[in-house]
Amino acid sequence: MSDESPRCLWMNGEIVPWDRAIIHVSNLTIRLASSVFEGIRAYWNVEQRQLYVFRLDDHLKRLMQSIAFVRMESRFSQADLTESVLATIRANEAHHDTYIFPLAYYGAGPFGWMGGAPTNLVITVAPTHSMLRSDEAIACGVSSWTRISDNVLPPRIKCFANYQNSALAAAEAARNGYHPHWGALLLNAQGKVSEGAGACLMLVRDGTLITSPVTSGILDSVTRRSLIQIARDILGVDVVEREVDRTELYSADEVFLCGTGAEVTPVGSIDHYQVGSGTIGPVTRRMRDAYHDLVRGIDSRYAEWRTGVY
Ligand code: PMP
Repeated sequence: MSDESPRCLWMNGEIVPWDRAIIHVSNLTIRLASSVFEGIRAYWNVEQRQLYVFRLDDHLKRLMQSIAFVRMESRFSQADLTESVLATIRANEAHHDTYIFPLAYYGAGPFGWMGGAPTNLVITVAPTHSMLRSDEAIACGVSSWTRISDNVLPPRIKCFANYQNSALAAAEAARNGYHPHWGALLLNAQGKVSEGAGACLMLVRDGTLITSPVTSGILDSVTRRSLIQIARDILGVDVVEREVDRTELYSADEVFLCGTGAEVTPVGSIDHYQVGSGTIGPVTRRMRDAYHDLVRGIDSRYAEWRTGVY
């Protein structure tokens, strides 16, 4: 086992050593790129010596939906997976910020578009770094690739096939000199702003938070939903969910990306137009700080959003 690998993972109901989690190369998941997954973060609270998984129920609910949409059948319930996520973290004795990755894939079985093979599930956990204390504002560009749409490959499903669209956009953005990971912003087939390659997008104009609706070809992001609630209920910031034009990106006072991975990432320029001051804006900062305190359990409100591991 290499030093970088986690000690163990959860596979189909059992905790197994990292190096023993193997699937055959003929597996349907490799042939059809048809796995579905979730990305979840857990934040370590130093004072409380507690690890809080952020919105575990909401992520696992979305995983169960993704599994159902692609017509896989899980032999594990959401409650089973909740326990399994916690068991995997404990088995790895994770006392640090952690990224949790549950993945549903096909077991051995015949080839067929409807699968015809049993659904397997694996949960991996690995140490991760939070950027919520960084003020860095990133450079983004509007992609030449169009965001997939609900009638083609529904962005609402968190499946690998959809990420081919994201991968093309992210690779193009990186080669064009924008942020290597979060640099791509995609428009949908109607030419309206959709989302980033792996995160949703929010704008601030005259103190109001504006974000594309869930019908604009976005993933129904757990972070987006949380930030809308934080803005309205904690910060008293108005939120409007509506279609967004491309040029609104250039005229916004502030823009930021949000997602489990991206957390709250300020955007300093788009297509080489400076956004606001080019640095983290005041509303973005307040949103980010409030989000940080909630996910880490420093702010005790919204206790239902946090699942303590220990
Ligand atoms: N959009 C896309 C395409 C994503 O991959 C992600 C990351 N899961 C998000 C948005 C943000 O979703 P969430 O806040 O649920 O992580």
